[in-house]
Amino acid sequence: MVRGVMSQKSHHDIACPGCGAELCVELYDSVLVDEEPGLRTDLLTGKLNRVVCDKCGKAFRVDQPLVYHDREQEIFIHYHPLVGGVTMEAAVDAFNRAMAELRRLVPAGMRLPETHLVLEWSELAERIFVLEEGLEPRVVEHIKYMMFQQNPEKLDASSKGLLFDAQDSTDEMLCFVVQDRASRKLEAMLHFARKDYEALLNVFGEGQGLKLLMDQFPGPVVNGRLKFLQDRLMEKAEEPEGGREEAKA
Ligand SMILES: [Zn+2]
Repeated sequence: MVRGVMSQKSHHDIACPGCGAELCVELYDSVLVDEEPGLRTDLLTGKLNRVVCDKCGKAFRVDQPLVYHDREQEIFIHYHPLVGGVTMEAAVDAFNRAMAELRRLVPAGMRLPETHLVLEWSELAERIFVLEEGLEPRVVEHIKYMMFQQNPEKLDASSKGLLFDAQDSTDEMLCFVVQDRASRKLEAMLHFARKDYEALLNVFGEGQGLKLLMDQFPGPVVNGRLKFLQDRLMEKAEEPEGGREEAKA
């Protein structure tokens, strides 16, 4: 494994969202949770990179890039939030640069563990759970894609998100919660039979199925909701004028 990696903190100049005061705060840029398991708990309970403004007392979490390492479970995730004008392209660029740097550092021929890129804080926590459960993120996101496809009325992908819920999942069922993206409220729960997940895993595990899955989610961002929205935009662009009118009605 890559040596010399450890949890890292550095100072950042930020503006308080409450009063606008300029603050210099110490934040984690990367966490190594197999060495400091408390940081995993802090992250999952929203305490990591949370600061209190010394002028107005407002407590808030600073959204900034974070690298998550769990070498024991081989979980490596880069969190790159799309805040402050950061675009998806810029986040992917930064991720690709970091991966190129990593490849430069490891001996030739050494296999690099799969590293994930997520763009939202809730997605970071979710991906940790998905990987800890030993689930395949692309298959999980494919399931969400199908859920959006099958429930166009109740589950509007532009305003609702789906999050894997490890806590309520059982040996029989995988649970997903519907979250309103604006209010962050959890609104409903959807279930997906684990045996159907296993069947998908078989289909997508190798050969043509694997190719299809990789075509659907080439990465580094693997997100069923975004992919669904993207595909819908493409479909709309391809529809003739009349079809578009009909879709609106
Ligand atoms: Zn303040």
